[in-house]
Amino acid sequence: MDGISIKNCTLCPVECGADRTKGFGACGVKGLRIAKYYLHPFEEPCISFKKGSGTIFFSGCNLRCAFCQNYEVSRAKRGKEITPAQLADIFKQLEDMGADNVSLVTPSHFIPYLVQAFEICQPKIPVVYNTGSYEKVETLKQIDPFVDIYLPDMKFSSPALSKRYLGKENYFEIASQAITFMANSKPLSMTEEGKMLSGCIVRHLVMPLCTSDSKALIKWFNAHLPPSTYLSLMSQYTPFGEIEGMKELSRPITAREYNAVVETALELGLGERLFAQERNSSSEAYIPQWDF
Ligand code: SF4
Repeated sequence: MDGISIKNCTLCPVECGADRTKGFGACGVKGLRIAKYYLHPFEEPCISFKKGSGTIFFSGCNLRCAFCQNYEVSRAKRGKEITPAQLADIFKQLEDMGADNVSLVTPSHFIPYLVQAFEICQPKIPVVYNTGSYEKVETLKQIDPFVDIYLPDMKFSSPALSKRYLGKENYFEIASQAITFMANSKPLSMTEEGKMLSGCIVRHLVMPLCTSDSKALIKWFNAHLPPSTYLSLMSQYTPFGEIEGMKELSRPITAREYNAVVETALELGLGERLFAQERNSSSEAYIPQWDF
């Protein structure tokens, strides 16, 4: 664990310097902590595939998204502490349940523990790394050898929106470097049936009154990332979390907003590598019930 120190933690761009052997970092956690693991049926079809994605939700987060759909977990109010050996055992359980992959959700603040778990058990099925993308490339390089598929969020390009909604004005400056690393790291590989074995899907959640920012992000995606990178445009924004005082976030997105963003991707010729949600998926029913 000394390769990346958690005694004066600078794992992520927050660089809060917490001694996580004794106390909590700005990400809300010290030891390894999870809130749920199960077979998730609602990811992109090449990820959930037939039996579901073996998803593990980690507690805490280095972002402070006002609208977080997993609010109780990201603020570390839910969860149970486990050891890297127990996490390795969960990898095996998910494999035995028939998972099409093992998917780590918001794992970046636990990378030293994850490396230990993978050294005990590297799953035979693909490993998915699902992140909000507020990551240091040098830290990502530590986990990269164990990962097959990256699933990074691309939230906002505007510093003003990033500050208002994520609490991180420099989000895009940091995330664009992390996403570029992830998209260039894993060559695309799919089975003939359409299950992803390796690659990168960049996710973007379309937000109310933010279509201009969405379009700017899609143009950046098209100009900077390798042509094998997929784009997933998500319509499931549901008013949730700490959004008091943000009246504009009190409604789901409209069909017009979502269609305008999809249209931009199609105009840029991204249709072949685009996942779009055909119906409005905004519903609290898509928010998991936490186990711990
Ligand atoms: S991972 Fe957590 S403890 Fe470490 S620098 Fe980031 S916010 Fe601080």
